[in-house]
Amino acid sequence: MAGSLKTEGIVLRSLRYGEADRILHLYTPDRGRVSAIAKGVRRTRSRFGGRLEPFFRLRLVLYEGRSELLTVTSAETVAAYPHLRTHAAALDGAARACEAVARVFDDGDPHAGVYHLLANELVLLDGEPARAGRANALAFRLKLLLAAGFAPHLAACASCGESEHLMGFSGAAGGVVCAACEASAFPLDQEAHDFLVAALGLPLADAPDAPPRALAQAERAILETLEHHAHVRLHPLARG
Ligand SMILES: [Zn+2]
Repeated sequence: MAGSLKTEGIVLRSLRYGEADRILHLYTPDRGRVSAIAKGVRRTRSRFGGRLEPFFRLRLVLYEGRSELLTVTSAETVAAYPHLRTHAAALDGAARACEAVARVFDDGDPHAGVYHLLANELVLLDGEPARAGRANALAFRLKLLLAAGFAPHLAACASCGESEHLMGFSGAAGGVVCAACEASAFPLDQEAHDFLVAALGLPLADAPDAPPRALAQAERAILETLEHHAHVRLHPLARG
């Protein structure tokens, strides 16, 4: 199946390789996560310029040979997101978003929705760097869960369907649980529940903020859901 693959892609990671090359981890709409080598990119006269860095959204031509590693033959910038690179919090938010995408999805597991979600997050952090923070990062992760098919059940007990006396959150059950089913759950305040519902339902740019205690519970709910259903353990977010 040797040939050229034309695709867009967002650079998740960019690693030095050998004397002049780079290995890129990319997320693409049609192939999901792919790895590609860009040769000679670290020479001063490289035709790729500086655009093979993390967060760049690129229009790519990749050569696909027998190796799993594709080869970058052409790369044009679709978006560089220059503003987010000058704000520490926005840069951190972009790095965590790319890390989450890289860890939740394996190679060859494409979700076009994830590609657009990541692009939206980068646009948001670039346009309004002050939005970067824990609430934004959690809203992004919730939408990632939704795109991956692991969105938590929030309307009724995830174990028995009871819609009242919802007391806690259980990663194993995959959502909120009632008093009778709460054995493996941790307490979830109303504010944390409200945040999860709003962040999941609203556009990323309209995701609400919440008090630290509610955000901490929301983060735990997301982390436990990922651990139980995607078998992925993400790094905790910094406070703020
Ligand atoms: Zn129940």
